[in-house]
Amino acid sequence: MIVVPQINYIIYMLPLNFPLLVLKKFNKIAETFLWSGKSPSLNRTKLYAAKEDGGLAMPRVHWYHYAFSLNQLSKIYGADGQSPAWVSIERELTEPFSIHAFMTQTEGEIPFNSPLLRFERETWRTSHQIVGSKPLFTRRSSLWNNKLLKVGRKVLFWRTWTEAGIIYIEDVLEGDKFISFEQMMTKYHIPKTAFWKYLQLRSCLLSMQKRTPLIKQTLVQEMIQASQLTKKTASAFYSLMRQSHPPGLSGLKKVWEEDLGGEISEEMWKDITGSWYKISREIQTRLIIYKIIHRCYWTPCKMAKLKLRDSDLCWRCHRSKGTLSHMLYDCHLTQNLWKTIIGFVNKVLGTKFVQNPALCPLGIGMSYLIVYPV
Ligand SMILES: [Zn+2]
Repeated sequence: MIVVPQINYIIYMLPLNFPLLVLKKFNKIAETFLWSGKSPSLNRTKLYAAKEDGGLAMPRVHWYHYAFSLNQLSKIYGADGQSPAWVSIERELTEPFSIHAFMTQTEGEIPFNSPLLRFERETWRTSHQIVGSKPLFTRRSSLWNNKLLKVGRKVLFWRTWTEAGIIYIEDVLEGDKFISFEQMMTKYHIPKTAFWKYLQLRSCLLSMQKRTPLIKQTLVQEMIQASQLTKKTASAFYSLMRQSHPPGLSGLKKVWEEDLGGEISEEMWKDITGSWYKISREIQTRLIIYKIIHRCYWTPCKMAKLKLRDSDLCWRCHRSKGTLSHMLYDCHLTQNLWKTIIGFVNKVLGTKFVQNPALCPLGIGMSYLIVYPV
């Protein structure tokens, strides 16, 4: 993963659409290396999720690409005089719209066919796709050149209305309601003759609202606007993308609960899955803990099932089935090990841990395990 900062350096410095296939190929190569070209032995979402969410935090390079770009885009919301020079150039280029409105448009020409502006729009669209939200029908979406707002199958763009200051959906709303024609005439100096257009716009917006509720703004919008104040960096945008793809751990929790004969509290489960990497600085130990929690070990049962072993019996006692819980705790040949460890911990730390199947492999104190009645 030492290569990632080098790729990131290039994509950070280049505000252009980097060939996505190249970035995705990097992750493909890394995955192929991890599993020696075989099919993945771990759910991919676990591979890329944050460590505190129960993942292994492998970087997904093309998400970084958009996170860096969002970070740059946040500069368009900077206070006057504090934004970099390119912001005023782009403001001029996207007139009569604002840069923000331009990003929320799906149609219409890109001024001078600028690859930078094209990439901004692409960043906006793809970042929302990654986090699973829809940016085209919010109060801060453009009324014009927006594929969701059509009259007679054509997207709208009325230059005189735009120049009068009507840019965003929220510009024609008062609270949640469409403004009256009188209000529009007073506020934007729209001539009386434009009443027909007013009706068209109102009907278009209301019919859209019936299909999709109008939201205030998306999380990406909120973050990008606030990032100037909170000084959030690209990593915050990357985290947002990562959190939108959490690893599914509920099935794993259920299997552990069945094994332990009790219910693990949500708080404890979060602690178990999210703190595995804090237990030791040593990578090998961390990996052992991770594999235990995620039940990745090749137990005799698993191996026999895949016909990699003739017997599914424990390879220590040769008596019982070699399930994970047996291999880790139930086998009588491991009892002495746990007894010694718990005795040692209690002696050194002055604790009163009692040996049990929840504490030994997962470190769960009994207060966090609601034991099912027998
Ligand atoms: Zn055994």
